[in-house]
Amino acid sequence: CSRRELIGDIKVEIHDDPIIAEEMVEALANKYDSEDVHNSLSSVDVKRMSVEIDDAFLLINLDALLERFKLWKRELPHVEPFYAVKCNTDVTMLRVLAALGVNFDCASKQEIDIVLSIGVDPSRIIYANPCKTRAFIKLMTFDNAEELEKIQELHNSARLVPRIAVSDPTATCPLNLKFGADPVHAAPKLLAKAKQMGVNVEGISFHVGSGCNDCSAYEIAIAHARRLFDLGEAMGHHMNFLDLGGGFPGGKHHIAFEQISAVISGALCRYFPDPAVRVVAEPGRFFAARPFTLCANVIHSTAVNAERITHNDKDIGSKGMMYYLNDGVYGSFNCILFDHVHPKGHPLRPKEGAEAVMSTIWGPTCDSLDQIEDKKMMEEMSTGDWIVYPEMGAYTSAASTTFNGFQRPIAIYAISQANWETIADLL
Ligand code: PLP
Repeated sequence: CSRRELIGDIKVEIHDDPIIAEEMVEALANKYDSEDVHNSLSSVDVKRMSVEIDDAFLLINLDALLERFKLWKRELPHVEPFYAVKCNTDVTMLRVLAALGVNFDCASKQEIDIVLSIGVDPSRIIYANPCKTRAFIKLMTFDNAEELEKIQELHNSARLVPRIAVSDPTATCPLNLKFGADPVHAAPKLLAKAKQMGVNVEGISFHVGSGCNDCSAYEIAIAHARRLFDLGEAMGHHMNFLDLGGGFPGGKHHIAFEQISAVISGALCRYFPDPAVRVVAEPGRFFAARPFTLCANVIHSTAVNAERITHNDKDIGSKGMMYYLNDGVYGSFNCILFDHVHPKGHPLRPKEGAEAVMSTIWGPTCDSLDQIEDKKMMEEMSTGDWIVYPEMGAYTSAASTTFNGFQRPIAIYAISQANWETIADLL
């Protein structure tokens, strides 16, 4: 690392070369192993003052965040991203996104406060949740008549966008059980009711489900939106806003972003050729997943009978291993429960020719639900070794706890000199 700069009050390492996460995680772990860890820490972590040499840490690769932004601009140049803050509220990431011109989708008063606290203008926020308490955010979604009445009473100058239910049932987290008006029957009634109440509807929104696996859902949703735009216009609404929601992939686990963006671009060309319609989306995992690499330490390892892991008599007498890491399901790996993820870690320093052993990887708490990986064939590791989990930024820290007194991982931010030069003046 050549030097450090601040983003807000957070220390960011500036490197001469582009950041390669694996290499940098290795270098950081080396520093930990030599107890020279304080030099790498953000001011927030230094304030914690409880850093142990084997604490789990997160590398936040801001080069990767800029790459995601470039990819978005290349593939969907006419769709404005409103980052879904719920996915990861890391303030340094939010500052960089804001500097790049990304806007924000907030779901609560707290999320709005975080975004406002970094100097973002309220006009750059969409309020995409029914529990609306902040009157100065004007652009908001709704999906039922009761909510419409509430909005009229509490936010009578709001700009409204009904959310329709169009789902990819194969998405990692389908959302339509809870949200969205049926596009054929309920949505036209909402448009009519809004007109009758004198409330202007400005467009249509949808969310095909987080972690979309079938991009035809976007095409179907955009076609419904077109029909509802025409219906709304015929009723006297001024329809000019289309919100494509989230669902975009964060990493390797879903279909490629290029596949989704090709379908969306084709559908927008067909159904919304008029450039006067403002098209936005609310990507969460697309931006947040990749920049975050988690490195957790094996705080304990125990040899067991492999049969205890596989529950298969044929493994009686074979060696198995149980590992206990210093981050788990109550921490960053809550994504296993809430985001249906199967994280795949790998040893930071693989030993050449090492034989794979049947293994279970546990988190640190006293709960047996706290299991990260099971029945995993992995080379034998020892207490003090490191395991790396890439793409750990989406729906991880956002819902993590300090249950049992286990602290969240320490955050270390890095960016290359070239990328720093492109964003420094915008921050
Ligand atoms: N917008 C809304 C309203 C959401 O509920 C969510 C996620 O649940 C998102 C955007 C972000 O979705 P994703 O992370 O799939 O991009």
